[in-house]
Amino acid sequence: MGSIVESAKQDANGSLAEKKPTVVFVLGGPGCGKGTQCANIVEHFGYTHLSAGDLLRAEIKSGSENGTMIQNMIKEGKIVPSEVTIKLLQKAMEESGNDKFLIDGFPRNEENRAAFEEVTKIEPAFVLFFDCAEEEMERRLLSRNQGREDDNIETIRKRFKVFLESSLPVVEYYDSKGKVRKIDAARPIGEVFESVKAIVAPQNEKVKGYGRVLSLEESEDCDIVHLRSMFEGK
Ligand code: UDP
Ligand code: MG
Repeated sequence: MGSIVESAKQDANGSLAEKKPTVVFVLGGPGCGKGTQCANIVEHFGYTHLSAGDLLRAEIKSGSENGTMIQNMIKEGKIVPSEVTIKLLQKAMEESGNDKFLIDGFPRNEENRAAFEEVTKIEPAFVLFFDCAEEEMERRLLSRNQGREDDNIETIRKRFKVFLESSLPVVEYYDSKGKVRKIDAARPIGEVFESVKAIVAPQNEKVKGYGRVLSLEESEDCDIVHLRSMFEGK
């Protein structure tokens, strides 16, 4: 891991860790509803949602030199090297200007996890784990029609296998540190979000800064211009 971590470290400009951002890892099998629930959390609590899979797909589209490698790995349901994914996550965090992040679909294995903590010096505040039976996830993936190359039954089976073998140990690791908040994700979207809110709302009270003040739930009656002028002292 040494050289990967070292090279990624050199790219970190240091300002990210200094900001002490709040990071929540959002984990669960393919099709458990991570992306859907993250969108709800963003709307209510002012986090920035970073889907590792979406960042990787954007990297393919951008025509980057890693694009073909990433595309081949996604098609096979394999885990892209940590160095690549961590760089994309770091860049997105730095560019967002926010200090509260939902990192969705990452870390996917122990190596991802250890490299992220080593490179960014960030530990998650907690981990949202969406628990869902495989047959329900399979049903959702096959009916969602997002045009994804990996939503076919052959790749889906490979993704389930990787999830069980490589990603669940990450959930177990954080569980041993008391950081996992498990949610029954095999229910309708609204019901699942009620459980999510019960977990995220109290945590959100502890989070200071722009993200909290600008969260929609709290700023429903204010406009952004007004909030901005408050920060600028006008
Ligand atoms: N992927 C990866 N590393 C990550 C996140 C995603 O290698 O940190 C790849 C992996 O091949 C995975 C695919 O991207 O199967 C799709 O991931 P995404 O999180 O979008 O989908 P999910 O499996 O959660 O539905
Ligand atoms: Mg997703």
